[in-house]
Amino acid sequence: MKKFDPKKEFIMSKTHNFGAGPCILPQIVFEQASKGVFDPDGGQFNGLSILEISHRSEAFVSIMEEARGLVRELLEVPDNYTVLFLQGGASLGFLINAMNMAGAHRKAGYINTGAWSTKAMKEAKVAGLEVIEIASSSDQNFNYIPKDFEVEELDFIHMTSNNTIFGTQFHDLPKVNVPLVCDMSSDIFSKKIDVSKFDLIYAGAQKNVGPAGATLYIVKNDCLNQSSLKPIPSYLDLNVHAGKDSMFNTPPVFSVYVSMLNLRHLKATGAVAEMEKVNNMKASELYAEIDRNSLFKGTAAKEDRSKMNVTFVLTDESKKEVWDKIWNDANIVGLKGHRSVGGYRASMYNALELESVEVLTKIMRDFEAQYQS
Ligand SMILES: *Cc1c(COP(=O)(O)O)cnc(C)c1O
Repeated sequence: MKKFDPKKEFIMSKTHNFGAGPCILPQIVFEQASKGVFDPDGGQFNGLSILEISHRSEAFVSIMEEARGLVRELLEVPDNYTVLFLQGGASLGFLINAMNMAGAHRKAGYINTGAWSTKAMKEAKVAGLEVIEIASSSDQNFNYIPKDFEVEELDFIHMTSNNTIFGTQFHDLPKVNVPLVCDMSSDIFSKKIDVSKFDLIYAGAQKNVGPAGATLYIVKNDCLNQSSLKPIPSYLDLNVHAGKDSMFNTPPVFSVYVSMLNLRHLKATGAVAEMEKVNNMKASELYAEIDRNSLFKGTAAKEDRSKMNVTFVLTDESKKEVWDKIWNDANIVGLKGHRSVGGYRASMYNALELESVEVLTKIMRDFEAQYQS
């Protein structure tokens, strides 16, 4: 029987994964993760698999601590913040952040930049907060970042740093004088950030951190145990999790393990600064081609374009069938746009290599050369 060589098979049949999430991770992380599950040379954890060890074992506690430590180091998290890996995805985060950040006004301002912000607003209302939409780009199907808004007696302002579906991204932080809460699910670790500008950051792991299952929280210690909505159900109370070093109950062991491996890899390959450089290169290459190519048009306002999720459409819809065949034949997957925007979306999370973007821009050029009318 032919022996399976994952490295070789991978190069031969390389699939370029532009999917919006769960996302691509570095190949080496996949290899290390599989070894953690099954190691032909014997289990790494005293002869056991990561999937069967106790979450209270020394081996797992040190994985959790390394993962939290890497988040601190890579994002330069100040000492007065706590890093947690919880469950429930960013979707439970919508509720958790509202419950924990509720203050004297029980009133929060939301910058509505798309589907995820809209969902966050809905959960904050469930938490009992008065929700003020302080700015919105819904008038133009969320294709830009609204920049002007007024703040009045709010407990906090909530923003979504990158709009995974509509392809827009904050390139400058809004100026606010109340605590700032940010859903960073789809651009965390993609560029340098100043954590001290935020009071609470949360992100589902599955876009840039690791496999689905874990949700990262970075919370200023002052915000723990300060809610005006007490008591908060235990699992939703960040102070409970902080008091237990992120081990209040069984954590998402595998997702935390692979997130740790991925962050280790990020650190070893130049950390966030290097990643940001590569992400800038990927984004400028693809946007330059979209702007140059007569058969394509970007959908997001230029100054607000996302470097993670690039949304574009064909200028001539009748060429759809031809174009869809071309990219499918090039082993590209996940390029179809979200149903609320249509067209195409190229998600270029950290692990997507520049080479994959080059494959995409090459077939775009070829397509134009052959089918330009
Ligand atoms: C993917 C995504 C979510 C949803 O995350 P879940 O972990 O599936 O709940 C929320 N916000 C943003 C910005 C996202 O990209």
